[in-house]
Parts: sequence; structure tokens; C-alpha cells
Amino acid sequence: MEKTAISVKASKIELNKVKGNALLIGLLKDKLTLSGELKKLDEEYGGIISSYIKNNHFKAEKGETRSVFVNRNIKNLVLVGLGEEEKYNLDVLLNAIADASKKFRDNGTENFSLCLDSFKNKFKEEDVVEKIVLSALIGLYKFTEFKTKDNGKIRQIKQITIITNSNKNFDNEVKYASVVANAVNKTRDLVNMPPNVATPEYMADYAKELAKKSGLKCIVFDEKQIEGMKMGCFINVAKGSINKPRLVILEYYGNDKKQKPIAIVGKGITFDSGGLNLKPYPYILNMKDDKGGAVAAMHIIEACYKLKFPLNLIAIMPFCENMPSGSSFRPDDVLTAHNGMTVEIKNTDAEGRLILADALSYAAEMKPQAIIDIATLTGASLIALGYIGTPFLTTNEKLREKIKNASEKSLEKVWEFPLWQEYEENIKSDVADLKHISEESDAGVIIGATFLKNFVNEIPWAHIDIGTTVWSKADKGVLTKGATGVTARLMMEMLREWK
Ligand SMILES: [Zn+2]
Repeated sequence: MEKTAISVKASKIELNKVKGNALLIGLLKDKLTLSGELKKLDEEYGGIISSYIKNNHFKAEKGETRSVFVNRNIKNLVLVGLGEEEKYNLDVLLNAIADASKKFRDNGTENFSLCLDSFKNKFKEEDVVEKIVLSALIGLYKFTEFKTKDNGKIRQIKQITIITNSNKNFDNEVKYASVVANAVNKTRDLVNMPPNVATPEYMADYAKELAKKSGLKCIVFDEKQIEGMKMGCFINVAKGSINKPRLVILEYYGNDKKQKPIAIVGKGITFDSGGLNLKPYPYILNMKDDKGGAVAAMHIIEACYKLKFPLNLIAIMPFCENMPSGSSFRPDDVLTAHNGMTVEIKNTDAEGRLILADALSYAAEMKPQAIIDIATLTGASLIALGYIGTPFLTTNEKLREKIKNASEKSLEKVWEFPLWQEYEENIKSDVADLKHISEESDAGVIIGATFLKNFVNEIPWAHIDIGTTVWSKADKGVLTKGATGVTARLMMEMLREWK
């Protein structure tokens, strides 16, 4: 089904002249006095906002909304509570706008305006505009691809207007946020796509199509070629499935080709049954999300192309399915990775690090300036940070700073875990160079990264474990049930300022 695009624009107009279905106004609990344009607006509508405040019909608690039917230029004035000023930040803004947008959509409203000044507080106008656009576009996401009934009844907002009294046009901010939101939502679409449809071959075709529509270069390697490239870990993980693996490479050159690229490696398991170490119910559910890292990488590189970032990027995405069958790889197998290291298999459900081992050593051969991998690597990430934040680990001080800065700006929460040498003891094998897990199942997030570190040579590297944050059970704020599109906002913020 064709998705209707939501149009967002900033417009300079006096607040009391705004027309349309609804005007959204943000108010702080401890600053419930109307001044400036808001005061004029209130007067224009016969003091209706101030009477709601005076009579305690609206207290501006965080998450509170109150729709006031005025039926003139504007049909509804919608008051949104932002809570206490001290606790007000861009996160609160992001979720307030997303929740309000969802309510409008569900009520059948097709357009609304919002007063920029009322949400601005101490923040820069440009940042607030960006967050408003992002939160509305991400918050309004719905996956309807496989709904065949009542398609005509699926509601969507058509137009959002940000009302400003500033002379700035905010075109750059609207464009950046729209492109990033698109990357997030396309990532969600493809991660949500069921595993019987989104096979490795489907993913490769999708990447080719994406490259055809943009200026990206796409190379796809099939099973025989992957074998020829001596990717013994990747090819063996794929062996249990009739859906054959694909290694997909997307390249973007936004700078002189002599400038070293940044490599983004994404884990692309299209369905993870656990292999012979079959996952029990309910842990086998939603395992279509195990391609979340690769899918994000694909749309991050596309977004960088759309925004013409002045850098070179290579996305490396191994796609395969982890299935149990007579041809599956087994516990006790010893596999030889692309870089020649031998790996003893202890549990076929720890397959992600195996396909990444080959993809990372392939990336390292290209001698990029940095390698960043994004992977739904561990269930241990749930114990580490829950659904709120994403663990990351790195060998490089500059990458650490870049990721932390990008996290602050993008509001995608990450937290660093250590790569202390002591952990290396946990993956020493009796028969091979390495084993791929620690049998003690302690420090899962760190052990995963400690294993991967063996495949990146000395190249600055960061590993982002989206094992938990790839998926949302909640439908609130910018989250919708299902895939989250995690890391797209973070990575775009990092690449935007890459030096
Ligand atoms: Zn697994």
C-alpha cells in the first residue's frame, strides 16, 4: 500500500490569525501565565484559555491534554501539559508532540498547527523545530502492509504547520528531520516485514532497488561467492536454511574517493530460530527483528546520500536465516573465519557474532577510518539497560566522544560498557583460537563485543548492541508497537558532524 506523505512546514503568522482544525499550545505547570502572543490569542478567543487555567480545568501536568472547542478560525485549541520547567527537556517535548499527533490522527484530524514559541523554553529554535518534525513523523508511524480490510479507514495526518514569529525559514531543519524520520520509518517497515517475505534474497533485491533510486553503489554476493570469500562463519550459520545467504554492500561517496570511508556493519539475520539450539516459546517470537542492525545501516547510508553529507560510507550487511535442519552447523563445530581465525561453536543461537566476525574482518580489509557495527546481538542487553537505552562498546576515544555527543543530540540513549582484558579469558577455547560465547553466560553484552574485537584489527571500532531496543512493546510517545528503527537518529547525528 502506498503511504501518504505527511507534509510539514514552518510558517510565520500571528498566532491569533491561524486557521485550521487545531492549534497545539504547550504550557508549563509552574509557568501557567499567558503572555505575548499567547495572551493575544486568549483575548481573541474571549479569555477561554485563561478561564480553563483559572478554574483548574487544565493544570499542565506532563502528559495532560485539554481540547477547547472554539469553532472559529481554529476549531480546537489544544493545550498540552509539559510538567515542571525544571524537568522540561527535549525528551519531554519529543513525547508530548508525538502523543498529541497520535491523538489528532485517531480523532480523524487531518491537519494541525502548533505554536513553536510555547514549546521552546530555553532551547534553540532550530533544535526545537527539528525535534517537533521528528517526533510527529516518527510518532505517527503505523505498519499496515499486511492489513487487507478497512484500508480506506486508516487515518493519517496530512499537514502539520509550525507557527513561528521568527524570520528564519527552518528549511534545513525540516529537511534534516524529514529525511531522518524517513530512515527510521523505513527501517521499521523492513524490520516489521515477516520472515517468510523478508528473506535474504528479498533484502538483497530491496538494497538493489534502493541503490537504483539513489546514487548509491550496490554489490550483492551470493552463497557461492560468500564461500569463495572464505567467510566460513557466515556460510555455516546460513547452512540450515533453504533461503540462501546474501552479502550486501552499499557504498556512498560524498567526498573525494581518496578519503577513507567509514564502514557500518549491520547484523542481518532475517529470522533467528536459534538453530539446533532452538529457541523455546515465547523467545522465538519477533525473531524477524534480528535483521534490525543491517536494515538500519541500509537506511542510514541512504539518508546520508539524501542529505549529501561530505563523507564516504560503506555499509556491509550479511543477510541469512538461522534454522535447524540436517545441514545446520552444530555445537562443537570449529569454523574458520574470513581472517583465518578458528572459532569453536558452543551454542548455535549465538550466530550473530559469527556472521559479524566475517563481515567485520571483510570491512577491516578495506582499511576504513572507523568501523561501527549495529547488531541485535544479545538478550543480555535487556538485563543491562532494559528498553530505555542501548549498550555500546568501543576501542577508540574519538568514537566514544562522537557516540556520546550524538546520543545527547539525537536523544537516543546509549551507555558505554567496558572492554577490560580480563573478559578475554572467558572466550578461550580448548580446541580452537576462540570460542564464541562464555559458558558462564555472565556479562553477555561485553563477551559478545570481546569476541567481535578479534576481527577488526587495529581499526577504530564501536559496537552497538540493539538486542533489546530494536523492538517496542509500548505504543507511547515516539514509540509504536514493533520495530523502533533504533540507531538511525543516533548515527545520523554522528555522521552529520563527522570530522
Ligand atoms: Zn541467535
